[in-house]
Amino acid sequence: MASYQTTKKPPLSRVKVRPNLTGYERTRKTFRFTDVYKELDWLPDGGLNKAHECIDRHANGASANKPAMIWEGKNGEQERYTFADMKRETGKFANVLRGLGVGRGDRVFTFLDRIPEHYFAVFGILKAGAIAGPLFSAFGPDPVRDRLLDSGAKVLVTSPELRGRIAHIFKDLPELKHVIIVNKLGRDKTPIAPTDLRYEELMAKASAEFKTDNTSMFDYSIMHYTSGTTGKPKGAVHRHMAIVQQYITGKWVLDLHPDDIYWCTADPGWVTGTSYGMLAPWSNGVTQLIYEGGIRASTWYELVQRHKVTVWYTAPTAVRMLMRSGTRVTSQYDLSSLRYINSVGEPLNPEAIVWGLEAFKQAIHDNWWQTETGAILIANYAFQEVRHGSMGRPLPGIEAAILDRSYNPLPPGQQGYLAIRPGWPSMFHTYWNNADMYNSKFKKGWYITGDEARVDEDGFFWFVGRADDVINTAGHLVGPFEVESALIEHPAVAEAGVIGKPDPIAMEVVKAFVALKDGYEPTDRLRQELLRFAREKLSAGVAPREIDFVKSLPKTRSSKIMRRLLKARELGLPEGDTSTLEEE
Ligand code: AMP
Repeated sequence: MASYQTTKKPPLSRVKVRPNLTGYERTRKTFRFTDVYKELDWLPDGGLNKAHECIDRHANGASANKPAMIWEGKNGEQERYTFADMKRETGKFANVLRGLGVGRGDRVFTFLDRIPEHYFAVFGILKAGAIAGPLFSAFGPDPVRDRLLDSGAKVLVTSPELRGRIAHIFKDLPELKHVIIVNKLGRDKTPIAPTDLRYEELMAKASAEFKTDNTSMFDYSIMHYTSGTTGKPKGAVHRHMAIVQQYITGKWVLDLHPDDIYWCTADPGWVTGTSYGMLAPWSNGVTQLIYEGGIRASTWYELVQRHKVTVWYTAPTAVRMLMRSGTRVTSQYDLSSLRYINSVGEPLNPEAIVWGLEAFKQAIHDNWWQTETGAILIANYAFQEVRHGSMGRPLPGIEAAILDRSYNPLPPGQQGYLAIRPGWPSMFHTYWNNADMYNSKFKKGWYITGDEARVDEDGFFWFVGRADDVINTAGHLVGPFEVESALIEHPAVAEAGVIGKPDPIAMEVVKAFVALKDGYEPTDRLRQELLRFAREKLSAGVAPREIDFVKSLPKTRSSKIMRRLLKARELGLPEGDTSTLEEE
């Protein structure tokens, strides 16, 4: 059995808790998450607040002048903020929110690009005791409206351009009281509404002194919407205590050390961008690079070279995009600073690991988790050799299993539902307004993840696929219902069925099958119009890439679209059990 003590770079080497670890198995037997509590900096009044853990505890100590954020804008702008700067800006924003009547438990959403103000806003929200809801800035109006409406958000923080994109949804949001507009560097000339508040003006007047709300570890802190097979996305709500696991996985899985320069390429609109683009690195007091722009191999390598990035957290789609530009491009840059690379969100195919070995002279470490789990649960660790194609082994303190269709554990080697024993600190606490859906995720004392996997004799988990119709495109989950609902709003569409079609780069792309209303012809022009229509309503990532016209959709006798059948037909696979199929 691999031992933490036999490694060149043991991930636990800087952890103060349990310094005498002798191996993975032993740690798994003895470790309790409560051991980590003493590593945290509890509030003077006894509470726990993520913003205090990530910002003020460092700003109040020896790391005050250490850079927390190195920011590069999409036009090459650069800004740096120390932990003391972050304390000031987040304190000001918390005061702004207090001034607007925001208090404990209120929902405040951010719809911004990856700019420093986005990060100030999220931590200001947490300091004020409110619940932060970061939204993906590529979203179109429909996903933004659905999330603001469902959460009953009181305040939205956005930019002139993004506000313009969603201008018509505000009339549908009676609970939204304030819109705060951030105009980064004054570069956005899009007009705003007279009732909107200007971030820059509010911040100029706000005091930097703010006493962080004495939230308890059980208070809600952050919510992220995630897609399921049925209905609209659900808001998975996390508590302040999730920081325990975000902090410890930052050390154990990302292998963060105090002098690292860390870069997480995920957007805060997705859970990786908050748990590992904000909470894990900053609770560990680590400097992180934040890049506003999108993926381009040469720019990414330049960033690593310029900022001497040491630890990198990215996704298989990004790796596959980098692979396309080949190792000739990587060899033009000095990437020797890179010490440790992690990946999440989709299966990391062995070819990508092999390519990483050549391009970066090291393995890429795959790990598994999801919005509901709040933090990494299964991982390949620095102390062990990467088992190509496996997601790794459960984190100490986590019990994972493979269950059969009756939710009973299966032996190694067999495929079944991936399940986790509930009770880990970063476990979601509910789906907002949807306790029934939350309860439906727990069976026979297990949390059912929605994934299928198998485990080998050594305890390594191997991803097999989703157990439902949810589509994973470029590491983002897309619920087919959401896309179908958008398509049927077009006057020509009678019904729509949506599946994930395998794709060499993005793992899956969204494909729609559309039956038209009488009087409409299935022309290429209409296809293009529908593609554009969905893109404008949803976002390029969520909207279908392909549309096929069909006469009707296969349905069960209870009128549910049989997406499984659409997929089998698309891929030329056996149709399986069609006994519930309604006559087509
Ligand atoms: P999300 O909730 O959007 O973060 O997506 C979580 C889902 O992404 C999981 O339930 C899996 O289906 C998939 N996923 C995450 N990490 C991995 C991984 N390492 N390998 C395979 N699939 C993954």
